[in-house]
Amino acid sequence: MGKIKVEGLKKSFGTNHVLKGIDISVNEGEVVCVIGPSGSGKSTFLRCINQLDEITAGRVIVDDRDLNDPKTNINKARENIGMVFQHFNLFPHFSVLKNIMFAPRELGILKEQEARDTALRLLDRVGLSDKADSYPNQLSGGQKQRVAIARALAMNPDVMLFDEPTSALDPEMVGEVLGVMKDLASEGMTMIIVTHEMGFAREVADRVVFMDGGYVVEQGTPDEIFGNPKNERTISFLEKVL
Ligand code: ADP
Ligand code: MG
Repeated sequence: MGKIKVEGLKKSFGTNHVLKGIDISVNEGEVVCVIGPSGSGKSTFLRCINQLDEITAGRVIVDDRDLNDPKTNINKARENIGMVFQHFNLFPHFSVLKNIMFAPRELGILKEQEARDTALRLLDRVGLSDKADSYPNQLSGGQKQRVAIARALAMNPDVMLFDEPTSALDPEMVGEVLGVMKDLASEGMTMIIVTHEMGFAREVADRVVFMDGGYVVEQGTPDEIFGNPKNERTISFLEKVL
């Protein structure tokens, strides 16, 4: 069953045709890592999946909801899609606990006590039980990103999108964030992860998608893509990053 179905997705910014027709189906529980050069449209692709960017053509269907159907309640659909960004995007004036409680409270999804219990449980899960009352500027980058993941999980999403979650981190903090993502993967979360961490992609991905110039150029298992890439552009990209 396709949990996420992307059909003929095109996205242009004015005359800049960034996505030129993407077709991808992601199954429930599948972990898809998206790799590719800077500017190839990876972030735009993720942003189109949860409609942070309005699509130019094609269809995006998540959990059988067509996100471009005017009858679809886009806010409801989005609640089901967690997103984690390169630069964390935490609310700086809220404590860690409040950051995690904010969306479920604001949207009236959880009562105060439920939201607090959920936040504390999620903090425990990402190994930050002792940071509930800290503020983002008191945390390391790795800790901030783990809070951002906990915050996304507080909405109990079915799908998680990650846009280079470790690219802004000092090297010694990459592992702690990838560890949390690995746990999520093993618990069966459906995930699309844009990443430059090739070792992680190789170990955790069910499928690796190579994007270049607004197209999916090649996709396959980690062994196929890293061990035996077929397309010239995939080969040349991997030569540079591996
Ligand atoms: P990647 O994540 O692979 O580096 P992006 O999706 O960020 O690539 O960007 C792909 C192209 O889309 C770039 O040429 C970028 O300038 C353009 N682009 C992305 N977002 C916008 C925007 N909001 N307005 C105009 N152009 C954009
Ligand atoms: Mg990007």
